[in-house]
Amino acid sequence: MSDGVDAVVVGAGVVGLAAAAALARRGRSVVVIERHDGIARETTSRNSQVIHAGLYYPVGSAKARLCVAGREMLYERCARLGIPHRRLGKLVVATSDEELAALERIRALGTQNGAPGLEIVDSDTVVRLEPAVRAVGALVSPATGIVDAHAFALSFAAEAEAHGAVLALGREVVAIELAAAGYRVIASGARGEREELAAAAVVNAAGLASDRVAALAGIDVDARGLRLHPCKGDYFALAPGAPLRFERLVYPVPMHAGLGVHVTLDLGGRVRFGPDATYCERLDYAVDPGKAKAFAAAAQRYVPSLRAEWLAPDQAGIRPKLQGPSDAFRDFVIEEESAAGLPGFVNLIGIESPGLTAAPAIAERVAELLASI
Ligand SMILES: Cc1cc2nc3c(=O)[nH]c(=O)nc-3n(C[C@H](O)[C@H](O)[C@H](O)COP(=O)(O)OP(=O)(O)OC[C@H]3O[C@@H](n4cnc5c(N)ncnc54)[C@H](O)[C@@H]3O)c2cc1C
Repeated sequence: MSDGVDAVVVGAGVVGLAAAAALARRGRSVVVIERHDGIARETTSRNSQVIHAGLYYPVGSAKARLCVAGREMLYERCARLGIPHRRLGKLVVATSDEELAALERIRALGTQNGAPGLEIVDSDTVVRLEPAVRAVGALVSPATGIVDAHAFALSFAAEAEAHGAVLALGREVVAIELAAAGYRVIASGARGEREELAAAAVVNAAGLASDRVAALAGIDVDARGLRLHPCKGDYFALAPGAPLRFERLVYPVPMHAGLGVHVTLDLGGRVRFGPDATYCERLDYAVDPGKAKAFAAAAQRYVPSLRAEWLAPDQAGIRPKLQGPSDAFRDFVIEEESAAGLPGFVNLIGIESPGLTAAPAIAERVAELLASI
C-alpha cells in the first residue's frame, strides 16, 4: 500500500468487491483492504445462496428496491460470465388458514415490490410440485434461484482487478483519520506491521464489523442507532441417502428475525435445512448437533416424513442485523456521511439478507454516492 487512491473499500465480501468493481469500472483507483488472507471468508460464504425475488420487504425500502434491481443484475451477470446459478423457483408454504392469509399478504407485497409471476396454489398442486411437502396452500415464486456465492464474489474481484483495483489481503483496518484531502486509512498486518494509505473516499463494507469501522471514523454508532445485533443461523444437511427429494426451495411463512427454517438446495443438489435465528454475543460458527431435533420439528410442519436422524450439523452464518430482538423492521443503511462531517465516507451497515442478491445494486448506489470524488 503506497500513495493515495480515489477510494479505499474496507472488506472483501461480496458487497465490498461489487462496490470496488463498480468504482474501478468508472476509472477510479481503488484499494480493497481485507483482514483475512482470502476474499469472501465471512457472511458471503455462510448463507443460503438464494437469489431472492423481493417478497418480504416493505414497499419502497432499500431492501425491496435493491433486492429487485440486484436480482436482475445478478441473473444477467451470471449468464454473461458463466457463474453457476439456477432459477429453480421457490414455494412459501402455509400450514394453517392464518398462514394462508399471510401468503395473500406476501403475494400482494411481493407483487408491489416487483417480484414477477407470484401465484398461490392449492394443497394438491403443492404435492404435485413437491411430493415430500404437505401444506394447505403455497405461494410459488418463479424468479427465486440459487447462485454459487463464492464464484459470484470472485467475479467482482476479477473485474475490479482487471480495472486496476488492488486487493490488499491479510490487513485489518485499525484507524481512519480525516485528512486535508480525504482520509488516512491505517491497516495492521498479521505480524503487527502498520501501513497507511491516503484516500479521497472510504467505503465501509465491513459486514459484521461495519459498526466498529464506522466508529473508527468517529461516528457515534449508538447515538445514530447503528450498533449491530449479530444473529446466528445454523444449518443442518440432509443425509445423502435420506428418501426425500426437492426440486425447488421450500420456505415456511417468515418469522420475526429470519425467514424460518427452510429447505435450501445448492448447485450440487445437496439439501440443507436452516437457518434458525439466535441473537448472539460472540461470533462463534460452531453448530450444536443437539439442535437436530428442533430443526426436524420446525421442518416437519411442512415435510412430515423428515426424521431428526437424517440431519447432520452443517455450517452457520451470522446476520449483521440492525434490528434487535424486540425491534421493528430495520432497513439497509447506505449513507454518504457528509452530514456527519465525513465527506466521501460511505457506510454500508446492516447488510443482512437479501444482501447477496442486492450486492450489484448496492454497488451501483455506492458509485452514485461517490460520483463527485
Ligand atoms: C444465515 C444467513 C443466510 C443468508 N442467506 C442469504 C440468501 O440466501 N440470499 C441473500 O441474498 N442474502 C443472504 N444472506 C445475506 C448475505 O449473506 C449478506 O448480506 C452478504 O453476504 C453481506 O456481504 P458483505 O460483503 O456485506 O459482508 P461479508 O461477507 O461479511 O464481508 C465483510 C468483510 O469485511 C471484512 N472486514 C471486517 N472488518 C474489517 C477490517 N477492520 N479491516 C479489513 N477487513 C474487515 C471481513 O473480514 C469480511 O471479509 C444471508 C446471511 C446469513 C447470515
